[in-house]
This record gives sequence, C-alpha cells and structure tokens, in this order.
Amino acid sequence: MKQKQKILAHICCAPDALYVVGLLQENYEVVGYFYNPNIHPAEEYALRLQEVKKVAAYLHFELVEGPYDMEKWLKLTEKFKNEPEKGRRCHICYAWRLQQTALTARERQISLFTTIMSVSPWKSAEVLNRIGRMTGRKFGVEFLEANFKKKDGFRKSVILSKEFGLYRQNYCGCLYSLNSRKQQVS
Ligand code: SF4
Repeated sequence: MKQKQKILAHICCAPDALYVVGLLQENYEVVGYFYNPNIHPAEEYALRLQEVKKVAAYLHFELVEGPYDMEKWLKLTEKFKNEPEKGRRCHICYAWRLQQTALTARERQISLFTTIMSVSPWKSAEVLNRIGRMTGRKFGVEFLEANFKKKDGFRKSVILSKEFGLYRQNYCGCLYSLNSRKQQVS
C-alpha cells in the first residue's frame, strides 16, 4: 500500500478536529498541532487541549502542543481589540497561528501544513487560504487549501462531537470574543 503523505494540521478545538482530522486521514498521515495562545482564560485553554487529546487518542494521531504564549498574542492583537469578529484582529490571530504551524512543520521536516479552522461558519475559508498560501511561501512549506464547511462539514462536526460527548465552547477563544459573548447574553 502506498504510504500517505504527512501533513501538520493546526487544530483549534476538539469538535472541529473529530470531523476534519478524520476526513484528512483518508488521504494523509496527520500530525496534529495544538497552538492557540489566543485562548482565554488558561482554564479554558487546558479544557480545550484535554478534549483534543481525547480525539487524538481516538483517531490515533500524534499530537504536538505548541507554547501557550498568550502574552505575545495579546501584544500582537491589542491594537485591534475593538474590531468585530472576522475583522483585522482575527486575521492577525490566524496569521500568527499559521506561521507557528508552518515553522513547526519545517522543523519537523513535514512538507505540508493546513488548518482545520475553515470548518467553522464564523471563519472565512478564503481568508484562511490566502494567509496560509502566503505563510507557506514565506517559510517554504506547502499549504493545503481547504474549505471544510463544504459537504455539510460543520453540521457533521456538530453531530459527531455530540455523539462523542465532547465539550463545545460557546465563544471563539480570546478575551475579546469572551467579553462580546458575555454582552450578548446579559
Ligand atoms: S475572535 Fe477568534 S479568531 Fe478572532 S482574534 Fe479572537 S480568538 Fe482569534
């Protein structure tokens, strides 16, 4: 049997990973990369990572944890803290996480990388793919473009993660998205 190409997949959370990594494994040998210094507070970070570890054990893929360098992330995005979701703050947030994924892929001699984030209806696959292409060119690692929302991807990820009993967060991840969620429910 032909050996599958290795891919480093940036993973943001367990519900998305359960569906998208399973899909990627049809064609690739997936190594997961949990790099999300945007997540606030630290307890939420630990909870999301713990859930991703469950998915990695279930789907049998190697999971690499990146550093939780939240201070650096806050400095990078502070200027854009009042931007709405999907605005410039989010573009910086995607770019930073994708840059670290590309660098990690290069360090580990994995020639392909991607992110599973495009499964989310709140994230533009077009923007993620554009940033991923540019990042890949900059660091000499190929970016796998995708839109995992296609073929009803988000709904499938919701159903699967419910069946598996995974924790699903109700805000994107950062302090700013948490605050705006709190304002919506108050
Ligand atoms: S809303 Fe989500 S994508 Fe945007 S900056 Fe916050 S964590 Fe990053």
